Amino acid sequence: DLSKLEKIDEYTWTVPLKPGEKRAPVVLYGTKELLRSMDDKVLEQITNVAKLPGIVGKAMTMPDAHWGYGFPIGGVAAFDPEEGGIISAGGVGFDISCGIRCLRTDLSLRDLEPYAERLADELYKTIPAGVGEEGEIKLSPKELDRVLEGGAEWAVREGYGVPEDLEYIEEHGRMEGAVPEFVSKEAKKRQKGEMGTLGSGNHYLEVQVVEKVYDQKAAEAFGLWEGQIVVSIHCGSRGLGHQIGTDYLLSLAKAAQRLKIDLPDRELACAPITSPEGHEYIGAMNAGINCALANRQILTHLTRQAFRKIIPGTKVETLYDVSHNTCKREKHVIDGRERFVYIHRKGATRAYGPGHPDIPQRYRNIGQPVLIGGSMGTGSYILVGVDTSEQRALSTASHGAGRALSRRQALKQWSGKEIIQQLAARGIIVRAHSSRGVAEEAPDAYKNVDLVAEATEYAGLANRVALLRPKICVKG
Ligand code: 5GP
Ligand code: MN
Ligand code: MN
Repeated sequence: DLSKLEKIDEYTWTVPLKPGEKRAPVVLYGTKELLRSMDDKVLEQITNVAKLPGIVGKAMTMPDAHWGYGFPIGGVAAFDPEEGGIISAGGVGFDISCGIRCLRTDLSLRDLEPYAERLADELYKTIPAGVGEEGEIKLSPKELDRVLEGGAEWAVREGYGVPEDLEYIEEHGRMEGAVPEFVSKEAKKRQKGEMGTLGSGNHYLEVQVVEKVYDQKAAEAFGLWEGQIVVSIHCGSRGLGHQIGTDYLLSLAKAAQRLKIDLPDRELACAPITSPEGHEYIGAMNAGINCALANRQILTHLTRQAFRKIIPGTKVETLYDVSHNTCKREKHVIDGRERFVYIHRKGATRAYGPGHPDIPQRYRNIGQPVLIGGSMGTGSYILVGVDTSEQRALSTASHGAGRALSRRQALKQWSGKEIIQQLAARGIIVRAHSSRGVAEEAPDAYKNVDLVAEATEYAGLANRVALLRPKICVKG
């Protein structure tokens, strides 16, 4: 229902303030077509986010937005601690630091093709995935605390990967400010066998081919060329992150009650950044981020092993690793003033434009790589951060295609077996631990990723660099 929306331009929409309504402005990015396919709940949710204490700038949704718990997925909002700004577990998402790691190889599609089936089998065997599946790594409580403090740095220290990987991970692979003591025993227990596992559902490891390059200069900087094989790993902080989310939802809700914060929606449980509960959540969340960074680092190592076993000598380098479920303290100019804010990006990717000091040296003049998932049957995109994104969306862009159908709706429409057969006929090898999971993640359960990537570019959030087509998809 677009009747509540006011058009600013083809790619920018707002919800006008009602008389007497007190909240931050709301901005939705995307085409009319994308917004029309979005459920009404997104509008309601982002309008509620705009009412939270201490919000600065605009409450925003990305072109891939859809309904989520409290905050929409694809929702972005910044809060100033000096203005009573809050932090919300629902604004980060339950899978803390879920994200995508992209690896580039020196193989072409032609090099891969004779080995594709064997590589698919090897990856399926090597990458622990699926509900309840445990990895080989069993950590003592003490060692797990080191993971939570060290992130991917810990993993490299332990021999999973090479120091060069760290250069191409957000925060150089280690999030500052992690406090393992703020992570519950229960959360740590859940992680015991889950380090280095992919998980299930929407998480995947995909071998892809660069089908089309949009921006030659950026592609060159990222080391990409048409016909090249790359790998994308999408997963997060596993059981630990989910338990942190569950624990702090409760603790933040209690804090909100104690501090008499008027919550527009119960799911938006939150507490001031400067409150004890807010402080604890931030420490725990940062530990969750490190868990996810370590996890993707271990999976990178396992992926290398599988490639080298099947196609000896293959070069597998980290292109970039970016999270899309975080709240980070960043410096931004908002309302004409430079300040440190806590920016929630839930199902949204940081997208720094050229020159930002946090971009790896090799890409700095070009901009930050932005990684967008699509579906196992369509495609995925690599984009690059642009200057305009800072003013438009505090340097943020989309993270995926976004769901068009709920899992339940998808299950009603498709069988996993059929989907796997259809994809096989198109030369896409799927190796899944659950056929139900495949149905839930069927390509048509997602919005058209081409339209999302295009809208992301035209909205001034990030520019397309390359389109990736799936060849092998390993699913939980
Ligand atoms: P989320 O982080 O919101 O759970 O998922 C991110 C995005 O991943 C989704 O919006 C969807 O576009 C994409 N996605 C889900 N399953 C697959 C898959 O099997 N392959 C690829 N390439 N993308 C997927
Ligand atoms: Mn994700
Ligand atoms: Mn996830």
